[in-house]
Amino acid sequence: MHEFSIASQIIDIVLSEAKRRYAKKILEIRIRIGRFSFVNPDQLRFSLEAIASMEPLLDGVAFTISEEEAEAECMECSYRWIIECEDNPLYHYSPPIVRCPRCNGVSKFIKGRDCIIEGVRIEV
Ligand SMILES: [Zn+2]
Repeated sequence: MHEFSIASQIIDIVLSEAKRRYAKKILEIRIRIGRFSFVNPDQLRFSLEAIASMEPLLDGVAFTISEEEAEAECMECSYRWIIECEDNPLYHYSPPIVRCPRCNGVSKFIKGRDCIIEGVRIEV
């Protein structure tokens, strides 16, 4: 149900934005999902299409979904690296604490934790 709630949030945002601009039709929605957001692209697409089929403004819309690598940066030495993700159910509730492979310093995610609407094409 993770993907379904994200899909309905995306559709809500896009619809309110499109209505504000008096869109006749929404042609395309581009979405980028980070590997560490643990959103499954196929399930997300399935949910988006299910919701879109109930909304006339979204008739025939194309969903373009891309994935983004997860990247971390060390807060001690500023080293950056791509994190290999294994899907651990615990991470869905609290992301793991990542340690720098160089100095073992505490690091933060700089990419790959979000699910972002990259762009929307509408017909006005
Ligand atoms: Zn470091």
